[in-house]
Amino acid sequence: MSQQTFPEPPIDLPIDGWLYEAHPVSGCRECAAAMRELSQAKQAGDASRRFEASRRVRSHPHRGEK
Ligand SMILES: [Zn+2]
Repeated sequence: MSQQTFPEPPIDLPIDGWLYEAHPVSGCRECAAAMRELSQAKQAGDASRRFEASRRVRSHPHRGEK
């Protein structure tokens, strides 16, 4: 009999962490827009939109940075 003593923890892939990670630059309008999108997507539970938004924060050239 194989009885599982410990319930399996919900798998939260650590790799997802950086996918959704965003480091907005303050004063950058593009960042602000992307972060708004990110929080909306998070509330909506839309993972691919979250990913797109955080990628947008990471990949665009930041203005307002000197
Ligand atoms: Zn930016």
